[in-house]
Amino acid sequence: MHEFAFAYDIFKIAEATALKYNAQKITEVYLEVGELTLIVPQLLRQSFKMATSGSIAEGAELKIEIVPGKIKCRECGKVSTVTLSEEAQLTGLQLFQCKFCESKNTEIVEGKKANVKNIKIQE
Ligand SMILES: [Zn+2]
Repeated sequence: MHEFAFAYDIFKIAEATALKYNAQKITEVYLEVGELTLIVPQLLRQSFKMATSGSIAEGAELKIEIVPGKIKCRECGKVSTVTLSEEAQLTGLQLFQCKFCESKNTEIVEGKKANVKNIKIQE
């Protein structure tokens, strides 16, 4: 399960940070999630709940910010922003089209990762 693996990684990062600050509890976790990860926020929240059960992050709230994907064109070198609603559902992830020259010879440069931006703790 895609979301569970992500949720577990997020939990481990948040936990390591919290332990460094001698926190008793993690109350909020701020996340940046690339749109091209295909992560479903609702599933991620459920998975996070499972992954953190019985830990210092139990009950922590996940704040998810979706970051749009970016592609770089191998033909003209320009960067375009892509959103799943517009293209991926029709064409599949590997076929994003350059907005400038319409080439499909592109690579994804942003939007395939999830990052923990910040956490809120109780000491
Ligand atoms: Zn191009």
